[in-house]
Amino acid sequence: MNGLFGKAADLLEFGPGGGDAPMCVHHGPACEMGTVPLSELYRMVIEAKRQAGEQVPPLDEHLPMTVAERRQYRREFEAALADTKAAVAAEEAAIREGRA
Ligand SMILES: [Zn+2]
Repeated sequence: MNGLFGKAADLLEFGPGGGDAPMCVHHGPACEMGTVPLSELYRMVIEAKRQAGEQVPPLDEHLPMTVAERRQYRREFEAALADTKAAVAAEEAAIREGRA
């Protein structure tokens, strides 16, 4: 996903997921396989993306990930978490050294 809305949707969808619990192809851990209503903010972001002509997931359909998809999701989550931690550490170092 690209752009502001894409980043917002990523943040709202992305999470570590709950161990072996099934995860949704469309919404990651955000919907808990349709048992938890998607947040209003998430719905607004998806609607904004749809209006901008981007492909968006259906909001009322939930599809479980395969084991391979969950492994891939987990790898991407861990990589994004590591990137974020590195960026935060660099920012913190810059602040401590008075460069920020
Ligand atoms: Zn879902």
